Amino acid sequence: MSEAKENPLLSKMKNVIQGTTIGLPSKGLFYDNGELEEGVVNGEIVLYPMTTLDEIIIRTPDMLLQGTAIEKVLLRCAPAIKKPADLFFRDIDYILVMLRLISYGDKTTIPVQCPSCLTDAEEGEVVPHIEYPISMDHFIKKSKALELEDIEKNYVLTLSNSMVIYLRPSKYAEMMNMYKINDDSKSSEEIEEAITTSILAVIKRVDDVSDREFIKEWLKQLPITLMREIIARISEANNWGLDFSYNITCKDCKTKHNISYILNPVSFFTLPSSQEIERSSKS
Ligand SMILES: [Zn+2]
Repeated sequence: MSEAKENPLLSKMKNVIQGTTIGLPSKGLFYDNGELEEGVVNGEIVLYPMTTLDEIIIRTPDMLLQGTAIEKVLLRCAPAIKKPADLFFRDIDYILVMLRLISYGDKTTIPVQCPSCLTDAEEGEVVPHIEYPISMDHFIKKSKALELEDIEKNYVLTLSNSMVIYLRPSKYAEMMNMYKINDDSKSSEEIEEAITTSILAVIKRVDDVSDREFIKEWLKQLPITLMREIIARISEANNWGLDFSYNITCKDCKTKHNISYILNPVSFFTLPSSQEIERSSKS
């Protein structure tokens, strides 16, 4: 058997060997099903920069849509993550922005087509996409950790009929399924089933009932107003982690716009890197 020799080339790349330690905004509270490697404390994990193979995987459109690209890359770049699909999507967003930062650098630009210019455009007029700078670190710095008080406050909901629902944060796989709900090929019954299933997933118990079948049956008979109270709370409660609010001022009409609606950490991987921006500004 040959002895494993240390590669002198690799030892010169400290960040590749040691990685970067990041703290998940959930602090790992709630993870008790082998989602993270045993021994992970406070949700602190090591992240390694992406390689060529990771870049190829993450830019494969089909795999991206299915969510499998993200899972594959996270298993490679964050070995402490054992079940990426079972992580909360707010943690996944944070990891993706950090991964983008350590792999490609902090700065990038994003093409924006100004909504005001679009409204004011005459028929046949083409409104150009203009590049605006964004920084990964800007979002990381504004990140909000999940606190134990938040869990008691935001994840426990008393409905207007006095029933009490105990919720938990949404997982990455559940969010991916939510995106697939509005599929034209689905029948009304299939859509109802998909909505019920995704809401059921984040309900731990209702009053003192935790039987899944009972809760599901109850959800299906719940009046729409009460259902809306639950849906509103689920989206409000998931407000920790990164905040993608970001204002730009249109270079043409000078109107201010919050572009959070186009800021999606998965799409950050198709934006130019700091190096590319520097190169294009020189040419
Ligand atoms: Zn404009």
